[in-house]
Amino acid sequence: MSDLPDPAPHSKPRKGPKTSHILGGLILGAASGVAANLAWGKTAALANIVHYGTEPAGQMWLRALIMVVIPLVFSRLSLGVAGLGDLRKLGRVGLKTMLFFLMVTTLAAVLGLTLVNLVRPGAGLPAEARDRLVATYHSVQSPKDAAPRGEFGIQTLVNVVPRNPLGAASQGDMLGVIFFSLAFGVALAVLPPERTKVLVEALRGLGDVMIVIIDLVMTVAPYGVFALLFTVAARFGLDLLARLGLYIVTVVVGLAIFEFGVYPILIKVFTGWSPWLFFRRAWTAILTGFSTSSSNATLPTTLEVCEESLGLPREVCGFVVPLGATMCMNGTALFEGVTVLFIAQVFGIHLNFSSQIVVMVTAILMSIGAAGVPSGGIQVLFLVLESVGIPGEGIAMVVGVDRLLDMCRVVVNVTGDMVAATYVARSEGKSARPV
Ligand code: ASP
Repeated sequence: MSDLPDPAPHSKPRKGPKTSHILGGLILGAASGVAANLAWGKTAALANIVHYGTEPAGQMWLRALIMVVIPLVFSRLSLGVAGLGDLRKLGRVGLKTMLFFLMVTTLAAVLGLTLVNLVRPGAGLPAEARDRLVATYHSVQSPKDAAPRGEFGIQTLVNVVPRNPLGAASQGDMLGVIFFSLAFGVALAVLPPERTKVLVEALRGLGDVMIVIIDLVMTVAPYGVFALLFTVAARFGLDLLARLGLYIVTVVVGLAIFEFGVYPILIKVFTGWSPWLFFRRAWTAILTGFSTSSSNATLPTTLEVCEESLGLPREVCGFVVPLGATMCMNGTALFEGVTVLFIAQVFGIHLNFSSQIVVMVTAILMSIGAAGVPSGGIQVLFLVLESVGIPGEGIAMVVGVDRLLDMCRVVVNVTGDMVAATYVARSEGKSARPV
């Protein structure tokens, strides 16, 4: 089954919300949330509005996006693999994709570590402020609850192979779903076309149906985004911003340099696209990532943007994007590096060059292992801290501002997936769009 002609997915043109409307929802949500926090931050009325209004509304939108992820990944990834045709080509594309992911994630981790060494945001934080921060978050939640200890070791590798694909799907185990979809796609490619024709059509239909659902969900994106941003901003402890100011600035500036400095270079060098054009076309996925704080929730939109706006071939998008959303988290790697060194600086622990190399390698591994869900990066932070013997309770200091940083790192994570897909498409001679 080497050739999968790919008919147009829809007969009707799609009508999603304009990106400017999503951006409007985002700005309005953030601005009114901050204003509400300043005016009525401690009142029960605002707490009720958030608890019974904006939070459930935002969550419903987010869940509707996540709802389509598993069937979409299964359909797109298995067809993507089957569409690549022979196994040798699959191996080549797979290797190229993984190497690209690894190269870019390493760049991100190095940038983060360089910045945090230059700025040293933790060095100036008074011990009294540190203790107060730790105490505040201990009383709200123990760092262990805030950051359930991830497991990473040989069992992680074993768990990549699901015992039961339906079980993996129902538990949202993306790596398990990906493994099964890859195997399914390989098997489709091996069988003669007449034996798989009906199945392939059904899979295609499944993917197209999911895309229609996403289109519907995305029609209310401006409202969903508004609700999510209002909730975050209204709840946000603004005083934390001041106390952790320099740390926040270091992470955000690092992410911004990567997004608007490093990616444009990679785009130019590896894809041949004009960075400006690339960002203009990729904008909807970037905004969705920022609002949802989740690579997985953004995955359907990322796929759609790659296929429709960037015009990349479906089999490449179907292969690269789901893998990227799960394994390539450049923003998360940058964040992990900065945060571990920040915590070490606050505790007065000196990390020499070789310890920092350990931090870098663990940060890269953890960004691969982190789940593409809100706070997925915080959940694995424990392990990066442990790798160099820093007290895990340091996490309590940064938990309060994590949502804000998470939103920013997902922007970098999602953009990385699209850059990788564009690179792979081009290197396979399949970049459809004029530059
Ligand atoms: N929320 C991020 C993502 O979904 C992961 C993280 O927390 O860094 O990409």
